[in-house]
Amino acid sequence: MSSSKVQLKPVRVDVENLKKSFGEKVVLDGVNFSVEPGEIFALMGPSGSGKSVLLRHIIGLLQPDSGKVLIEGCDAGAEETHRRYVTSIVFQDGALFNSMSVYENLSLYPMEHHTCDKKTMNERIEMVLSLLSLQGAENLMPSELSGGMKKRVAVARALMMQPQLLLYDEPTSELDPELAAATAELISAVSAETGLTSIVVTHDRELAHNISRRVALLRDGKVAFQGTPAELEASSDPAVQAFLHPTMDINNPRFRKSSPVIAPVKTRRFK
Ligand code: ADP
Ligand code: MG
Repeated sequence: MSSSKVQLKPVRVDVENLKKSFGEKVVLDGVNFSVEPGEIFALMGPSGSGKSVLLRHIIGLLQPDSGKVLIEGCDAGAEETHRRYVTSIVFQDGALFNSMSVYENLSLYPMEHHTCDKKTMNERIEMVLSLLSLQGAENLMPSELSGGMKKRVAVARALMMQPQLLLYDEPTSELDPELAAATAELISAVSAETGLTSIVVTHDRELAHNISRRVALLRDGKVAFQGTPAELEASSDPAVQAFLHPTMDINNPRFRKSSPVIAPVKTRRFK
């Protein structure tokens, strides 16, 4: 990581009593939390708990049924808010375009959104590549990048928009432990170098522990816990315990229905 600091004005995010259903399915049922400017906030929760749905509200792709998502007090669902406060997202799989070089991947959004002229864009590309120790990688294709480099290019691309708020969706899923540790370092370093606000959605406890001072646990449509990672680990709350120490009950009807392998298994009596 280079020492070239790019200090951005970080933003505050408030989620107030956010509710969202899809048809009959209630996904978010009154979610409340706040993210302070410049902090790295970890939003945890089991698979399917609505973490990505929540992120989509913050970037303005989904509108709440009720409640509010505010960026610096402004409605995150309004285009105007995103013109004023830039939010970028690093998707789970990086979402790089495989037929485009690193340079083309990085230039795509600024070109499309006409955020700057070509000279400024090239300067910015040079800056983000240097920030992420990717100097000289401009002409490489995604297939020529290692897993760690791909992650860094995905972050570099998000930084091209000069965001004040950076969202990461499951940044360490499907990574080996070494790469996961490198990604944790990357997230911390980007935060320190740019000063932006980060929200990291993850079910990786180690990641949350390493990068953030505050975590929230989303469960059954609500924030079941908020506090430090150490407080999370020490909590005896049943919702927290169920998340930290999940047990698989093969008698649960959902396993019996969905899995033909498990379905025929009955308790046998050995004589
Ligand atoms: P996760 O916490 O794993 O990121 P998601 O936020 O992706 O979970 O999804 C939460 C729930 O909302 C899931 O049950 C999912 O099927 C449902 N869901 C998400 N988006 C939609 C949609 N556009 N239409 C219907 N259901 C959706
Ligand atoms: Mg998700």
